[in-house]
Amino acid sequence: MRTVAQIVADDLCIGCGLCESLTNGQVKMAMTNSGSLRPTPIDGFEPEQEQAIIDACPGVVAEARSDPHLLLDPIWGHHGTMRYAWAANSEVRFAAATGGVLTALGQYLLAAETAAFILHVGPDPLRPMRSRWVMSQTPEEVLGNTGSRYGPTAPLAGLGAALDRGEPFAIIAKPCDLGAVHRRAAADPRIDQLVAARLTMVCGGQSRLTKSQRLLKQFDIDETAVSLFRYRGHGNPGPTRVETRDRRTFEVSYLEMWEDQGTWDVETRCKLCPDALGEASDVAVADVWPGGAPTGEDEGFSGIIVRSQTGESLIESAAAEGWIEVGGPLSPRELDGMQPHQVRKKEALAARYEGMADEGVAPMEIRGLRIDQLGQRLSPEQAAVERSGAATRMRAIRS
Ligand SMILES: Cc1cc2nc3c(=O)[nH]c(=O)nc-3n(C[C@H](O)[C@H](O)[C@H](O)COP(=O)(O)OP(=O)(O)OC[C@H]3O[C@@H](n4cnc5c(N)ncnc54)[C@H](O)[C@@H]3O)c2cc1C
Ligand code: SF4
Ligand code: SF4
Repeated sequence: MRTVAQIVADDLCIGCGLCESLTNGQVKMAMTNSGSLRPTPIDGFEPEQEQAIIDACPGVVAEARSDPHLLLDPIWGHHGTMRYAWAANSEVRFAAATGGVLTALGQYLLAAETAAFILHVGPDPLRPMRSRWVMSQTPEEVLGNTGSRYGPTAPLAGLGAALDRGEPFAIIAKPCDLGAVHRRAAADPRIDQLVAARLTMVCGGQSRLTKSQRLLKQFDIDETAVSLFRYRGHGNPGPTRVETRDRRTFEVSYLEMWEDQGTWDVETRCKLCPDALGEASDVAVADVWPGGAPTGEDEGFSGIIVRSQTGESLIESAAAEGWIEVGGPLSPRELDGMQPHQVRKKEALAARYEGMADEGVAPMEIRGLRIDQLGQRLSPEQAAVERSGAATRMRAIRS
């Protein structure tokens, strides 16, 4: 049997927080010196607890939550509606990461009383550069936690508390988090009973906290002085903005923050991620910049990829009730052009998993995500580069 200790040692943990929920808080998610949230301690679990974690852990397994009635695309998976969309409320659209669709859907679910609260993440008020899980109970609270948080987040540390309330709720979280929720549903029937909607973002990877710490260093700010750390939003994409308690403000543009991929400090699990496109969600929301990067600011346009009948009904009713606006259609190949990094990664993964196995590290168990099929698209030379790169990375982690 695999263990949490081994998953953490191999750096396959993404810090989703499920370990904390399934141990009723005996194990806590804590920030490591290298800037990742990890379960602490990593051993001493009861055997049944550890088995339950392993059965759902994103470091062990990834499974699409497919609706076979929908269209199937090799890259984008099962999908229904694919369209441009944005929040109808201009304040939400401006404040949010992209077009504010996730925030608007969360607000609508509360207003329609489909959900009693939204489990998602927001800035930690005491240390705003860091994130914490929250249960937003009003549309205003959902808006207060709008925007992408590019550092470590552990939304599933709140899953146990959310389920214990026994009320319907919605989750907004990363694709890997929703993968764990889907796997956990096989053992905990309350998930399918209570979770009214599973909403996600297309995800290029979670940076370690070191990425944000470097920005503070660049501005010569101590983290204790930070009163606001907004990764993007207030425009699309909007700047990364830091404010201090003594009223100083600092900004860098989105491109300044992200143009050098070598400084992203992305988690290992992200480089191996088989489902960054949210195939365990009801609706996945993406950026829609042609070529994959912004060329300037715009009013905020998102792309929606609907993945279930629940998602279709939600989009239809949120649009009819005036919470979101839905624009023109998007095709899988147009989305490829907007997410070229995602396409490259999907095609590279089969070779990367071979590289892991070369070093004796068990790759994740992948179900319904077409990784082997997409791997055939690589030339033998490209596959060899990906395989040896992954093997080198694993060797470094294990040394
Ligand atoms: C780490 C990360 C990487 C991303 N990479 C890509 C990419 O490669 N391609 C792409 O098209 N889009 C990417 N995005 C998504 C994009 O930034 C927007 O989040 C997405 O388009 C939704 O926009 P929105 O305006 O609808 O979201 P908003 O209305 O601003 O709502 C965002 C919601 O997501 C929740 N949230 C924010 N950050 C996190 C997090 N780290 N973990 C869990 N929940 C969170 C918030 O609580 C909020 O409810 C990424 C987002 C994140 C967080
Ligand atoms: S369940 Fe989540 S927090 Fe626990 S080891 Fe796996 S990825 Fe890490
Ligand atoms: S890239 Fe994958 S593993 Fe990394 S945060 Fe995004 S969904 Fe999770």
